Amino acid sequence: MNRSKKPEYQTRLARERIDILLSVAEKEFRKHIERSRRYVELAQKIALRYNVRLIENEKRSFCKKCNTLLKPGVTSQTRLDKDTKTVNVTCLNCKKIYRYPYK
Ligand SMILES: [Zn+2]
Repeated sequence: MNRSKKPEYQTRLARERIDILLSVAEKEFRKHIERSRRYVELAQKIALRYNVRLIENEKRSFCKKCNTLLKPGVTSQTRLDKDTKTVNVTCLNCKKIYRYPYK
């Protein structure tokens, strides 16, 4: 038995909590951005602790550096870089740039 392996129900519970936290973060985003960041941070902590992988969409929906939800035109800027064939998403809060390849 692998000691680091968590029971299945625990993973499921963690997954549920992450979903809730991310949706609350989304709700609080407009009025309380600091609170929203806190929820994103908590969701990430749960994912880490319970070894739950965030889906691609979730991973890209917030800034890993400052936990701000990335909203195009509000908190993020999206640019296509034709030379590197990447989508460059800049977090307008901390200026971190994320690059995702496109085809
Ligand atoms: Zn950021």
